[in-house]
Amino acid sequence: MFNLVLFGPPGSGKGTQSANIVHTYGLKHISTGDLLREEVTTQTPLGVEAKKYMDQGLLVPDEVVIGMISSKIDEFPEARGFIFDGFPRTCAQAESLDNLLEFKNTQIHLVLSLDVPQEELTRRMIGRGATSGRSDDTEEIIIRRIDEYRSKTAPVAEYYDTQGKLDIIRGDYSIDETFHALTRQIDKHLLPVT
Ligand code: ADP
Repeated sequence: MFNLVLFGPPGSGKGTQSANIVHTYGLKHISTGDLLREEVTTQTPLGVEAKKYMDQGLLVPDEVVIGMISSKIDEFPEARGFIFDGFPRTCAQAESLDNLLEFKNTQIHLVLSLDVPQEELTRRMIGRGATSGRSDDTEEIIIRRIDEYRSKTAPVAEYYDTQGKLDIIRGDYSIDETFHALTRQIDKHLLPVT
């Protein structure tokens, strides 16, 4: 099994690059943002609770997100591996993920962090807000999401750096160039399926 965390601030291109990686390496994609939006749309109790935080640009409580991840992993016992997108977003989530994977006799093998300058991130997210239909892509909420990232999520990079698993990739080149930079690192661990 091979498990990858794609890390980076909101707007860094994690979703776009995940789709390419999934296709090339045959990994299962787990995006907590997508999972939470699904729960919100179908108005499950979890979704109703999560929406209160998401609408304000705040992180959803750790217990909610961790429970969701655990059941998602169990849905795919035959998976070649997983790519985690938008998770873990706090050090508590990273520790829970380590425990969860250890229990399943596996681990996180690699963490690729997309590095994009702040002005470019804001520009991309405001541009996306015009077409994404996401209610949290407005300027005020974007600023909150970036604050949450800086205070709670950025320290997760250090958590993985200490474990010797972190690689930083420039995410402000073209989609293709960024993808190639990512594949150069992944190829050291896993052969493409396509
Ligand atoms: P972004 O483009 O901001 O990275 P996501 O789709 O990953 O967007 O997440 C959207 C929102 O969902 C976040 O602002 C947060 O409220 C919630 N969320 C997603 N993943 C997590 C997580 N791992 N922990 C807590 N909240 C999360």
